[in-house]
Amino acid sequence: MDYSEKVIQHFREPHNVGVLEEANAFGKVGSPACGDKTEMYLKIEDGIIKEAKFMTFGCAAAIASSSVATDLLKGMTIEEAKALKNEQVIKELGGLPEAKIHCSVMVEEAVRAALEDYEARQK
Ligand SMILES: [Zn+2]
Repeated sequence: MDYSEKVIQHFREPHNVGVLEEANAFGKVGSPACGDKTEMYLKIEDGIIKEAKFMTFGCAAAIASSSVATDLLKGMTIEEAKALKNEQVIKELGGLPEAKIHCSVMVEEAVRAALEDYEARQK
């Protein structure tokens, strides 16, 4: 399994790991293929993502994808976050092995789940 340098870096020292106590958006997704699980915490204020953290139990690709995605999310509007695609995460990581693409899809799904949770809370 060939991982890019960037994937290895983010796996060794992931950014934004942890539980965000003041989160007002939460998404939890699992990917049965690798046994990966991701919890995504976002703090949204005035339509902007102010803070993003994650807890991912999984392979190097899942952890690196979560790390990069939370970096990208900070400062995004809700609309921009909704449009965040796993391709963008993969690009940021300098590529992912074919067999690990689904790990980045899981992260995209976790972001979407968190945004749906946020919208449900506004009603
Ligand atoms: Zn995985």
